[in-house]
Amino acid sequence: DAVIETHGLAKVYAPGTEAEVVALHGVDLRIRRGEFVAIMGPSGSGKSTLMNLIGCLDTPTAGRYLCDGIDVATLDAEARAALRRDKIGFVFQGFNLLPRMTALENVLMPMGYANVPREERQQRGHEALAAVGLARRESHRPSELSGGQQQRVAIARALINQPPILLADEPTGALDSHTGEEILSLFKRLQSEGHTIVLITHDAEVAAHAGRTFVMRDGELHEQPPTTGAA
Ligand code: ADP
Ligand code: ADP
Repeated sequence: DAVIETHGLAKVYAPGTEAEVVALHGVDLRIRRGEFVAIMGPSGSGKSTLMNLIGCLDTPTAGRYLCDGIDVATLDAEARAALRRDKIGFVFQGFNLLPRMTALENVLMPMGYANVPREERQQRGHEALAAVGLARRESHRPSELSGGQQQRVAIARALINQPPILLADEPTGALDSHTGEEILSLFKRLQSEGHTIVLITHDAEVAAHAGRTFVMRDGELHEQPPTTGAA
């Protein structure tokens, strides 16, 4: 039951020009529902390019991507944006919270107003914040929260539309190691509740929390053999 499946996924920037960059060379990736996967690799190796494709933010030059079974290449930009909202929750290194909004308002941002009545929106916001241990911080603005708390608000926001996939780009990069461990524990709990987590990091200690690790090198993705006696 693959929730992320790519076949020969390739990305070329500025094709046919002097500035041409082959950022991804035919990546084959299969991630099952409920897996916690890390993608490592040095700067410039293609991690953001892959994340933008998996996150339905960009389209490949060649190859196929099935996002929760849906062939993304068959969609126009609008349908792709809708798919992104349904299927992907994004978490970033810098939290990307809106500074003038409360924790609750930030969490409700991706929900939109059209379909869900106000009471139900609020209720889901309360539940999402409670699920990350921030029930008593709903009215706080980001500047009134610690880095770890801000990241937990961002995780609650990423999950508000109940997407199957959580895509996290260096989510612990701005946190001290203890706080980072707490965020990684939260990811493990979310995994145990059935979420699929894709964690992008350059830090091997962070990647060690994942069930499987892939390493990106010059646009090629290689699965790391499981280590024995790991932490
Ligand atoms: P990483 O996230 O691992 O740092 P990227 O995916 O950002 O790697 O970049 C992979 C390669 O693609 C690099 O050589 C980078 O310079 C190039 N690249 C990334 N984005 C663009 C772009 N929009 N236009 C041209 N080249 C790009
Ligand atoms: P990097 O990992 O290369 O430093 P970022 O973490 O800033 O880059 O962003 C990774 C990718 O996610 C970028 O290519 C950007 O287009 C996209 N991105 C950043 N912020 C958002 C956002 N709020 N919503 C959707 N996509 C975003």
